[in-house]
Amino acid sequence: MKYYSTNKQASLVDFKEATISGQAPDKGLYFPEQLPAVEKELIDDIEKYPDEEIAFRVIRPYVAGSIPDDKLMQIVKETISFPIPLVKISDTISTLELFHGPTLAFKDVGARFMSRCLGYFVGGQNKKMTVLVATSGDTGGAVANGFYNVDGVEVVILYPSGKVSPVQEKQLTTLGKNIHALEIEGNFDDCQRMVKEAFTDEELKKRKFLTSANSINVARWLPQQFYYFLAYKQWADKSNPPVISVPSGNFGNICAGILANRSGLPVKHFIAACNVNDVVSGYLQTQQLRPRGAVATLSNAMDVGNPSNFVRILEIFHHRFPELKSMLSSYTITDEETTHTIREVYAKYNYTLDPHGAVGYLALKRYLDDHTGDKGLFLETAHPVKFPDAVEQYTGKKPELPASVQGIMNSKKISTVMKPHYESLKDYLLR
Ligand SMILES: *Cc1c(COP(=O)(O)O)cnc(C)c1O
Repeated sequence: MKYYSTNKQASLVDFKEATISGQAPDKGLYFPEQLPAVEKELIDDIEKYPDEEIAFRVIRPYVAGSIPDDKLMQIVKETISFPIPLVKISDTISTLELFHGPTLAFKDVGARFMSRCLGYFVGGQNKKMTVLVATSGDTGGAVANGFYNVDGVEVVILYPSGKVSPVQEKQLTTLGKNIHALEIEGNFDDCQRMVKEAFTDEELKKRKFLTSANSINVARWLPQQFYYFLAYKQWADKSNPPVISVPSGNFGNICAGILANRSGLPVKHFIAACNVNDVVSGYLQTQQLRPRGAVATLSNAMDVGNPSNFVRILEIFHHRFPELKSMLSSYTITDEETTHTIREVYAKYNYTLDPHGAVGYLALKRYLDDHTGDKGLFLETAHPVKFPDAVEQYTGKKPELPASVQGIMNSKKISTVMKPHYESLKDYLLR
């Protein structure tokens, strides 16, 4: 499989090069040259296939030529080595729980897949690769965990001191080994600026093999298709495919779902569930995408004012607006509606939503209210325990920390405290 840049000014690359470079040199996003079709028999008999076999068949055409089959199967198995259950909430609404991974959010799937691919690609070289990331919380944890113990890769994570939650900080700072946490005495913007400067420092790049673990990376984007297939495997009424609601920020997750659908996965309709950062809702009304500054909300992983993956959705539909509109709707959910939903779903169904899942639930419910006969599922993208205050306030119950995470809360934090100056980062990297 070859990948082209959505800006069309860069040369074609294979999966390996697209993964190592992340973004195309013309600043576009890499996109597969063909959309592979999954075998009809895999869809018709999906319940008979083991999860890893389904995932392997879905991803294989995308990495063909870059990773041999036996290695790819091993990577796929390690990527989805935790449960991804579809749980029924009401007669018409189910949820796909994507928070059973090591850092309790769906980003574990993409991060685990990408880290193992990169590990394989650097395995053949004698140079060590350094993955450099700035995080405001969630992404860093998933990346750190995904790369933990991967040979040949060092990970350096910058996070703003005192501005990530206690669980998130432990996820970043207790792993050790090849994972290094830099606690920056500044805010997230400082962390991002320092990382950006490193990527444009020619002297540094000569001495260090640097890469980012950005969410636009094809190796993080494409494996997100897995759980849409696994949801369908668990969907009871195959004659009435699901409407799927996806809490969306940068639109990578929902874009992977649409890609799965274009490859043959039955889905009735997609819903982009947004908080008030809803430039895509505007696009669906006016055909104009008007990026704007992000507004802080309770569902903060979706506070994005210029969704980077949206261009890939346009590409899937060949920029044909009517086709796109027939497959995708968008709803805007306010913080007040989010908290009301957490309260109501807990009272009515005894199910605890996190703020992102609550946005997904309510958007789906609104759509189904207007489309009788349809049934749907929403993706629950984070564990409620990651947002303990909001959840406790609206359910009256403190969400419990899963056993898998209790251990790290007692582990010792190890971080390097650093002033928010690029020179300090450079010295550290060249130490
Ligand atoms: C990243 C994230 C999202 C948004 O996903 P996108 O792929 O950026 O649209 C939603 N919920 C949670 C919990 C996240 O961490």
